[in-house]
Amino acid sequence: MILPPAILGMLGGGQLGRFFVAAAHEMGYPVWVLDPDPHSPAALIADRHLLAAYEDFAALDELAQGCAAISTEFENVPAGTLDYLDKFVVVRPSAAAVSVCQNRITEKTFLRDQALPHAAFAAVHSEQDLREAAAGLFPGILKVARFGYDGKGQALVANPEQAIAAFQQFKGETCVLEQRLALDYEVSVVLARDESGIVTSFPAAENCHRKGILDVSLVPARASTELRAEAAALAARIAEGLGYIGTLAVEFFVVRGELLINEMAPRPHNSGHYTLDACLTSQYEQQVRALCSLPLGETRAHSAAVMVNLLGDLWYETTPAGHHYREPDWSKLYAFPTLKLHLYGKHHARPGRKMGHFTVLDGDPERARRVAMAARAAIGIVDAP
Ligand code: ATP
Ligand code: MG
Repeated sequence: MILPPAILGMLGGGQLGRFFVAAAHEMGYPVWVLDPDPHSPAALIADRHLLAAYEDFAALDELAQGCAAISTEFENVPAGTLDYLDKFVVVRPSAAAVSVCQNRITEKTFLRDQALPHAAFAAVHSEQDLREAAAGLFPGILKVARFGYDGKGQALVANPEQAIAAFQQFKGETCVLEQRLALDYEVSVVLARDESGIVTSFPAAENCHRKGILDVSLVPARASTELRAEAAALAARIAEGLGYIGTLAVEFFVVRGELLINEMAPRPHNSGHYTLDACLTSQYEQQVRALCSLPLGETRAHSAAVMVNLLGDLWYETTPAGHHYREPDWSKLYAFPTLKLHLYGKHHARPGRKMGHFTVLDGDPERARRVAMAARAAIGIVDAP
């Protein structure tokens, strides 16, 4: 076991990294964060910020020399960086596992090879691939294979002509074409797997998106007990198939009552923020535990929870005089005593940027939902989830 006060390293300095730093600090571990952004939220609270690119080998050497173990919060860390660090220090998850999740083609090919349920798709390297795509893939969604997030790099395409136009807009970048599904709803499962193969999963969350960005997560998911158990079992099969050690998130579509795997994230997940307030162990503490070979913690939720994302749009007020930038009035949220507000300390709010979230806790899931919706309206989120 890697025990405190050993120093832990984190690749990536976003909010997921920030919660990892906070969890590690609670447990007695200092953390060094490597991130090229001088204002990265995790680095603001870290013991040391290595302000460097992910491929800066001098900085990687420093990280490897200073830290006992290194994890990541960002799936786009170059696999070569993880491979390099792995020569000197414990790195979890592995470069091999991260690289499968980094690219939608390797990800979906993995699902197909493991006979795991997923939407029909085609790999797209050229316009010819789109002309030859099966008719059943339309209407579809064309997604860039790498670096997409929050619905970016995606286009709805009704037919091959539209798909070719979208492919040109993506500058011919490698894509996947996916059949567009009529979703009943979406769920996700966050789990951790340790080196002996023990898997603990958190209760599944039901996820509602707005404009391609996660808006609200409800726990428990309004799915049958069987469906939730099946989602956890599928997520565990993925972790086993990848030989995964660490925290892994799996997103699912539910279509006509059946689960289809949408995608995996080799890290904690936005839909698992609720574990901070509602579970015996949070997904971030579990990430520390898996990284340090500590026994995994109990994942049970002690309350129902509803998590609401706070996007940068809330910082822009529209008045007859025009748009202006101001801090939202947080006192509106503190009026709800069962609400936990988390702000990420980001330097500047941009529309669509994840700036914070809140979680409402309650013994009764329906009351949690009602209070969360009232709080969401009170802070000025107008459209329904
Ligand atoms: P994130 O970073 O939020 O996970 P992402 O950019 O990686 O998002 P996806 O998870 O592929 O993108 O898609 C975002 C959302 O778009 C999904 O959660 C779902 O609501 C919708 N979506 C994606 N693919 C499909 C599909 N094939 N059919 C129907 N809806 C889809
Ligand atoms: Mg997604």
